[in-house]
Amino acid sequence: MSANTRIPSPDQLEKVDSWGMQTSCISSVFRPSLPEQISDIFQTALAAQQNIALRGAGCSYGDASLNAENIILDFTRMNRILAWNPQTGEITVEPGVTLEQLWKYCIGDGWWPPVVSGTMRVTMGGAAGMNYHGKNNFKAGPVGDHILKFQLLLPTGELLHCSREENSDIFFAAIGGFGMLGCFTSITMQMKKIYSGMLEVYAFATNNFAHIIQEFEKRIPQADYLVGWIDCFAKGKELGRGQVHEAHYLQQGEDPFAMQTLRIEKQELPDSLFGILPKSIIWRLMKPIAHPVGIQLLNMLKYKASATLGNHKTIHQSHAAFAFLLDYVPNWKNAYLPGGLIQYQSFIPEQNAEECFKAQIELCQRRKMVPWLGVFKKHRKDDFLMSHAVNGYSLALDLRVTERNREALWQMAQDLNKIVLAYGGRFYFAKDSTLTSTDAEAFLGRDAIEKFESIKRRCDPHNLLQSNLSRRLFPLLNVVETVQPHVSETAL
Ligand SMILES: Cc1cc2nc3c(=O)[nH]c(=O)nc-3n(C[C@H](O)[C@H](O)[C@H](O)COP(=O)(O)OP(=O)(O)OC[C@H]3O[C@@H](n4cnc5c(N)ncnc54)[C@H](O)[C@@H]3O)c2cc1C
Repeated sequence: MSANTRIPSPDQLEKVDSWGMQTSCISSVFRPSLPEQISDIFQTALAAQQNIALRGAGCSYGDASLNAENIILDFTRMNRILAWNPQTGEITVEPGVTLEQLWKYCIGDGWWPPVVSGTMRVTMGGAAGMNYHGKNNFKAGPVGDHILKFQLLLPTGELLHCSREENSDIFFAAIGGFGMLGCFTSITMQMKKIYSGMLEVYAFATNNFAHIIQEFEKRIPQADYLVGWIDCFAKGKELGRGQVHEAHYLQQGEDPFAMQTLRIEKQELPDSLFGILPKSIIWRLMKPIAHPVGIQLLNMLKYKASATLGNHKTIHQSHAAFAFLLDYVPNWKNAYLPGGLIQYQSFIPEQNAEECFKAQIELCQRRKMVPWLGVFKKHRKDDFLMSHAVNGYSLALDLRVTERNREALWQMAQDLNKIVLAYGGRFYFAKDSTLTSTDAEAFLGRDAIEKFESIKRRCDPHNLLQSNLSRRLFPLLNVVETVQPHVSETAL
């Protein structure tokens, strides 16, 4: 792209999907490979009275990196590792570098990303834009706690250097600032030293929400990672039953084969099941059981297996296999087609978690829209302005969208929001599809939003950076002076 960047003609527009495939948009998509090209696109957009959404790998479940009938700036071609120090573990990357590139680049030197998302497909720009958390959030905080500094290219063309010391208000607002303040053009992170490619993983079954919380609380002081799976179909005394995985790093000297286990090929899982069945077809095999009765049965069988065969088992598992298990079933989300899925994740203060999660699952069961998957994690508060974290727990619920249930599902989400807010809970833009601006203000508070709006005015005076999500949740943030967006969305 050069100084004479043009907005593509209508036949060059692209259909862009949310990760959950339940919403999409038609946009002009630009894929810069150099930072200079970004300023060029900013100028072109301003002149054409278009606005711009920033996009990494598009792994946010909802509309965070969609921008109907406007521009999307896709960073996947800006994917160079800019600097790496294997002595200190400090790494500087372009925003389109994926988590997969990152761990594969560093593991041979004995380093691992300190916080990882459940998929390695995400980019580091998207990671910082949402401030993602991992299964060690209670101990390591979100990814932003490990970002040392970044460069932020503002829509004004100014390149800001941000760290905890320099432009610190922007540092704490842009991390988790859902791409509203500027583009991360380089990000410097501190990686975590590891002494083995393996983790020690202990698995056991839990009877209900009270039990899982009790087990988490007991294990937090010694665990490096903790994650729970919840069978959302169980009722009564078994409401919230599931399975916990607790993982530990191996200390120096504990793995006699560390030189081997730290190799990339020792991290990968095989491409086939039982050596014969290609994993790429697994989602097709799931299709015949992809209905509520089949999934209820699957959840029940999984629970029974974890409470018998898999109970109190300790194994050694590679970092990648433990962290990114879902990536090893390619296209598993296609089992939710044709309507796709939404994820409903709420973050509840510790003292209210049991009651709130029970109320959520009971509501889903009463409305006969039971989540097919429930994932349970422990969190701690952090210092970022638009944070989703609390000192407490989160429950992430995968819900199927169909043409018939869409309206009822959105209504149920509104009712779940009321429950979450009544218990002092928070939400996460990376997972959201259903919040309203009133809900967003209720959990963030007016003060935080006003502070964010004021930083936005400084960084992006023409409101060039917008997205479907920002217009849905923060209409005032995108009050337009010179750029008038069309807010129309294609719902499949
Ligand atoms: C299977 C799966 C599992 C997941 N597990 C977890 C999990 O365990 N924990 C968790 O916290 N999240 C999880 N997520 C969510 C995911 O980590 C976030 O949505 C993440 O932001 C996606 O990164 P991305 O590169 O796809 O960014 P996108 O989804 O494309 O964008 C995310 C945000 O970042 C902004 N952005 C993108 N690039 C830039 C840039 N260069 N400069 C400024 N802003 C930018 C975008 O505007 C957008 O607001 C999961 C998602 C999936 C699909």
